[in-house]
Amino acid sequence: MFNGSFKECTENSVKLPEDDPDAFDMLINWVYFRGVRDLTGIVGSDGEEVAPWDPIEFYALAEKLCLPGLQDTIMDCISKYHKNTNELPSPDFAYRAYARTSDRSRLQKYAFLGIQHVLEILLHEDTEDGWPTCEIQKLFKDHDNFARDYIDSVRTGVGEDPREMSKCEFHTHGIAEACTLEDRKRKISAQSQGQAKRQCREAEFPSPASSAASSPASATAPAS
Ligand SMILES: [Zn+2]
Repeated sequence: MFNGSFKECTENSVKLPEDDPDAFDMLINWVYFRGVRDLTGIVGSDGEEVAPWDPIEFYALAEKLCLPGLQDTIMDCISKYHKNTNELPSPDFAYRAYARTSDRSRLQKYAFLGIQHVLEILLHEDTEDGWPTCEIQKLFKDHDNFARDYIDSVRTGVGEDPREMSKCEFHTHGIAEACTLEDRKRKISAQSQGQAKRQCREAEFPSPASSAASSPASATAPAS
């Protein structure tokens, strides 16, 4: 946009009215530092632990901008967060996942399996705590895709706890394909190891130029 013949180029600014400002902040952080802040729970005003950023809005933005590597990273963060806090997707989480991301997105799949798993757990308990029927009913009512996914799951059998499944089940690459995220991590690790080795060798055998630069006194001292 800023390099072409777009309006944004002449105005040197772009307006993104549909996108969440906090998600965009996360995106900029990822662009500059290639990292995503940990989704470690923080204590909210009511004393309950809450996520420090909204993974659904961030995932929706990454999906809109076609950034599969970032989508996969966000999915890993969500799964890790739910494991650490011993939580599963709430009806509200699933509702927003179905509202904000594309049909059959990996985030929808994760949210669906989470709700299905909770319903199986609650079968044996006399409570609707956290997952009241009226809220789950709203999912069926407002999201046809959720109802379809539910029918499909009944046809194919019992689901699993999504937190215990392979991370790649919720990545953008195919199940039979190599994990692009792991591949990228390996490359970054190899690059940083190569850099560290180079630095070690340079420290062990400094080049004449760097040796001179590191001891300017001896290089500039008079002969006598
Ligand atoms: Zn993967």
